[in-house]
Amino acid sequence: MAPGGGYCKEVIESHIAYADYDMATSSVELRGSPCRKATTSFGGNPGMTSNNDVHELLECPVCMNLMYPPIYQCPNGHTVCSNCKVRVRNSCPTCRHELGNIRCLALEKVAESLELPCRHQIFGCQDIFPYYSKLKHEKNCKYRPYNCPYAGAECYVTGDIPLLVRHLKNDHKVDMHDGSTFNHRYVKANAQEVENATWMLTVFNCFGRQFCLHFEAFHLGNAPVYMAFLRFMGDEEEARQFSYTLEVGGNGRKLTWQGIPRSIRDSHKKVRDSQDGLIIQRNLALFFSGGNRQELKLKVAGRIWKEQ
Ligand SMILES: [Zn+2]
Ligand SMILES: [Zn+2]
Ligand SMILES: [Zn+2]
Ligand SMILES: [Zn+2]
Repeated sequence: MAPGGGYCKEVIESHIAYADYDMATSSVELRGSPCRKATTSFGGNPGMTSNNDVHELLECPVCMNLMYPPIYQCPNGHTVCSNCKVRVRNSCPTCRHELGNIRCLALEKVAESLELPCRHQIFGCQDIFPYYSKLKHEKNCKYRPYNCPYAGAECYVTGDIPLLVRHLKNDHKVDMHDGSTFNHRYVKANAQEVENATWMLTVFNCFGRQFCLHFEAFHLGNAPVYMAFLRFMGDEEEARQFSYTLEVGGNGRKLTWQGIPRSIRDSHKKVRDSQDGLIIQRNLALFFSGGNRQELKLKVAGRIWKEQ
């Protein structure tokens, strides 16, 4: 659909679909494979074996994740992580001996002395961290992959921005538009039926970057409202370099919103709940739509610019 043209985009999806999105992705991240390719010794204690060997020692034999305190061992010295200790019902996964509550303090101490590169090294992160702060960093690392910004669907695709742009185009059939100004029309035949609706995402390509325009209907308290907002496909720091306006009106009245696009690091739901966008009460939206107040016919005009 070309900017300015258009017809109804009625992709109505359930809200519940993305309720646990943040949780789900972070646990996926925790399960990811650690950087095992760290062959060089990154400042470890002199005289120690290479990080790689120690790394293997720290790998839980059951879940293959790196172990964090408390690390347990059986009377024969086999180690297991605290999560798996519960899962294997206290029986050593290696020798079947009863596990008990013997901590492996030596290994916990060895871990403390390790320094490892961030697991997002392949995406460009150059940082090296003490073992116990590595995980915390990785959760917030600016090189970590982004979640798919498509709203309303359970989508667990993650990746860098070029990958996600291709994914939105190919898998979600999202409209892509070039240019920093747009004119978008949202139409729904029976506006009263629109409860918790998410319209299909539109992506704008300008300044060599991509912006996602979201539009949806939901209840703010008891009041039915429509909301439009923009998210930037990149991190927060970069998002702050841009501004945008959204305008909607009719019958000689106009509502304008000026804001800063939010990074897609912030989930669609988070942005919506923080009300960081153009909010139109349903009554006003129907007034803007003209006609018999049954049909929603909103024209949202917008502009994106880069702050100097
Ligand atoms: Zn484990
Ligand atoms: Zn054992
Ligand atoms: Zn990092
Ligand atoms: Zn997706």
